[in-house]
Amino acid sequence: MRLLLVEDDAMIGEAIRAGLRKDGFTVDWVHDGETAEAVLRTEPFDLLLLDLGLPRKGGLGVLSALRERDDALPVIILTARDAVSDRVQGLDAGADDYLVKPFDLDELAARIRALLRRKSGRGAPAIEHLGVVLDPAAHTVRRDGEDIAISPKEFALLQLLMERPGTILSRARIEERLYGWGQEVESNAVEVHVHGLRRKLGADYILTVRGVGYRVRPA
Ligand code: CA
Repeated sequence: MRLLLVEDDAMIGEAIRAGLRKDGFTVDWVHDGETAEAVLRTEPFDLLLLDLGLPRKGGLGVLSALRERDDALPVIILTARDAVSDRVQGLDAGADDYLVKPFDLDELAARIRALLRRKSGRGAPAIEHLGVVLDPAAHTVRRDGEDIAISPKEFALLQLLMERPGTILSRARIEERLYGWGQEVESNAVEVHVHGLRRKLGADYILTVRGVGYRVRPA
């Protein structure tokens, strides 16, 4: 899952990015509201972590612009402002959740997972498809009850495919979701991860749709 972090405090931003990367998220980080707006218009993210007090354009302005163009991207506001009126204003401007600094990184990660789960329309925390169970919180994949050892990128790719079992995802779309800025992407990276997953989950668990992309085998 690819997140955009908008935070002008270098220490806080670094800590959040490092913590969430360790949790398996792809995190891109910008430091002001104008850059955030520009990036949100051109690149796909699964969720936005938004500070309110930002240089050049405040977080509430960024959020309002996003919702004005009817973008339903899940948004969690991260801010030091703990006044009730700020929380209310943020939620009414279209935020989905709100964390007051300082917060625990484990709690942030859990709230991110909860929002992504709601966005995908799932009730259960784990995703299950054809005997394979992927647990985003525990970072485990089990097949017919047995744990499967899996790399972080394989995990991210499998989650993308399992969350939309009917959807074919192109290689370009997968690359956008798996890799953030500054991450080297080998030209055959997606194929390599698909190959690894097929080896572990069975050759026909992930299907290649020639000239289009990949999908999991329909139930
Ligand atoms: Ca700030």
